[in-house]
Amino acid sequence: PDDVLRVRNLTTRFHTSEGQINAVESVDFDVRDGEVFGVVGESGSGKSVTALSVIDLVDSPGRVVEGEVWYRDADLAEEFRGSDPDAVDGDFVDVRRLPTGVRRALRGPAFSTVFQDPMSSLNPSLTVGEQIAEAVEVQRRARANPRRTRSRTQGYGLGRFLVDSLLPNRSYASESSHSRAVELLEQVGIPDPAERAEEYPHQFSGGMLQRAMIAQALAGEPDVLVADEPTTALDVTIQAQILDLLRDLQEEEGMSVVLITHDLGVIARMCSRVGVMYAGEIVERGTLADVFESPVHPYTEGLLGSIPDLEDPAPRLRPIEGNVPSLLDSEMGDRCYFADRCPRAMHDCLTRIPEYDVAEGTDEHAARCVLAEREYDQADALPADYF
Ligand code: SF4
Ligand code: MG
Repeated sequence: PDDVLRVRNLTTRFHTSEGQINAVESVDFDVRDGEVFGVVGESGSGKSVTALSVIDLVDSPGRVVEGEVWYRDADLAEEFRGSDPDAVDGDFVDVRRLPTGVRRALRGPAFSTVFQDPMSSLNPSLTVGEQIAEAVEVQRRARANPRRTRSRTQGYGLGRFLVDSLLPNRSYASESSHSRAVELLEQVGIPDPAERAEEYPHQFSGGMLQRAMIAQALAGEPDVLVADEPTTALDVTIQAQILDLLRDLQEEEGMSVVLITHDLGVIARMCSRVGVMYAGEIVERGTLADVFESPVHPYTEGLLGSIPDLEDPAPRLRPIEGNVPSLLDSEMGDRCYFADRCPRAMHDCLTRIPEYDVAEGTDEHAARCVLAEREYDQADALPADYF
C-alpha cells in the first residue's frame, strides 16, 4: 500500500518557567493506506504531543518548531505546486506549510481524533445526536466550498460556526445532518440510535460514550484517524469491543489509524507497524514482527521483556529500572537519552545522539541506537556505576 502520511523530523518544544521542554525530537514515521500504525511508550514519552503535532493542534506554550508533515492529497498538491513548490512533493503537501485556513479545513476530511476521555470532549448540555450532527454540518459546509476559496478565506469561518454551536438551545445542524448523525451512531454499534441521539452525554455509559466520540470523529470521513489511548479509561471487556469496532471501521472505510497507547497488548492485537517512543524520540520502528521479534534498541527489549505471550490479554509496559528522563533541555545532553538506564551503554553512546539506522538485513526496520550500526563491545562498556 501507498503512504498517506510521511512525518519527517517533527520537533515540538514547550517554553515554561522552568525552561525549554523538548517534548518531541526529530520524529520520523510513515503511515500507509488502510493500516493501523501504533505508537507505544510510557506516559510522558511524548506520544500525545506527537499526535497533536501531526494534526496541527499543539497549543501555547508548545510549538512545533521544525519538521514536515506530508499528507497525500493530489488536488491540494496541484493547487500549491505553482505558488509554493516547497510545500509540494509529488502528490503530497507539507501540511505545516499550507495557509492556516487550508490547514484548519483538513481537520475532519483528512485528520480526525479520538481521545481517552470522552466526557472532556463532549458538551454536557447538548444531546449526543446534536453534537454529532454539528460535526457533520461543519464538514458539509466546508465541503460545499471549493478549495480555491478555502485558501483565500480563513477556512469559511469554521470558528464562527463552532461558537454558534456552543450557544445553548440552538439547533445549528440541518435535518439531513441529524439523520446522518443517527446513521453514524448506528455504524459505531449504538443500539436504538435514533432514541439514543436524543440523550445527553451523562446518560451514556463509558463504552457508549467512546462509541459516540468515534461517530463524531467519522463525521468528516477522515483519511487518518488519530486515536490517543482510546480504550485506556474503559474496563477490559469494553476495551476489546472498542478495539474491534476501530478495526472494523478501519477495514470498512479503508481509513488509516494512528493508534497511541502504553499497552503492548493493544499494539500486538491491532497494528501492522509500530514506533516505540522514549524521551520524545521514536527510538525504534518497523513492522510488528521486526520490532516485537527482533528488537534492536535495548529500551524496546526491556519493554518486551514482560510479554512472552502476545495472546496475553493485558500485558503492560514493564517498568524499567531507573528514572523516566527529564525532557528539560538544560538536563538533556548530546547523547543517547536512554544511556543512564541502558544495560549495554558504551562510551560511544555518550558522544552523539544516535541517528536512525536501518538494521542490517531488514527492509525498513530502524533504531535510534548505536547497536543498529555495530555490535556491543564489552571493552567500550561504561562502568556500572558511571551515572
Ligand atoms: Fe543503549 Fe547505547 Fe543504544 Fe543508547 S545508543 S540504547 S546507550 S546501546
Ligand atoms: Mg498521553
